[in-house]
Amino acid sequence: MIVVPRDKLRAVLAALGDEDPAPEGDQVIGLPGDPVDELVGTILSQHTRDSAAAHAALRAAFPTWDALRAAPESLVAEVIWSSGLARVKAHRIHLALNGLAEANGGQVTLAPLATAPLADARRWLAALPGVGPKTAACVLLFGLGRPVLPVDDHVHRCVTRLGLVPPGLTPVQSHAALEGALGDDTAAVRLLHTRLHGLSREVCRRDAPRCTECPLAPCCDFA
Ligand code: SF4
Repeated sequence: MIVVPRDKLRAVLAALGDEDPAPEGDQVIGLPGDPVDELVGTILSQHTRDSAAAHAALRAAFPTWDALRAAPESLVAEVIWSSGLARVKAHRIHLALNGLAEANGGQVTLAPLATAPLADARRWLAALPGVGPKTAACVLLFGLGRPVLPVDDHVHRCVTRLGLVPPGLTPVQSHAALEGALGDDTAAVRLLHTRLHGLSREVCRRDAPRCTECPLAPCCDFA
């Protein structure tokens, strides 16, 4: 069993700040705050750093999920072209929305996953056509407020250097250990994922970590 040092975890969370970072962007397609919008946005964000324009264009072009489902994939791809891999993403979006409709009597909704047992929700969502484990985790965390830590290589590098997990683990192993240590604290899960993702790209770089500029240096084993 992998033990995450509680004192260090508390120190890292404190150094990251107590503000609970909200998901970026508003969610106006469908119902406000609709987690399906998070699902679509996460698919759009695959393999790109900036999918905001494509997401906004999609919302503007298709006011309802049914309108989006009914549109030809070639048209959807045209609308989201700026996000890259547009044909693949248009196909995945259609697969995912149709899968949701089939599972919910024609309604495109993720509402049942808000209260389903977490392991079941994760498994069901990750098995949905066009969705994988990482997309499922992002939707559960940001769309449904469930305490799921999306596996991220950047975050894995950072938590290993910090000494939150022992060296030699896979990203899946380190994230499972952290998730277990964080328990039901969704705000802490979101904080850790969002802040460490940013920090690991800008400061805790793979080849040249900038420890002298890092707010986590006082509690980092590597510094
Ligand atoms: S102190 Fe250095 S190694 Fe540690 S988290 Fe910060 S940048 Fe990474």
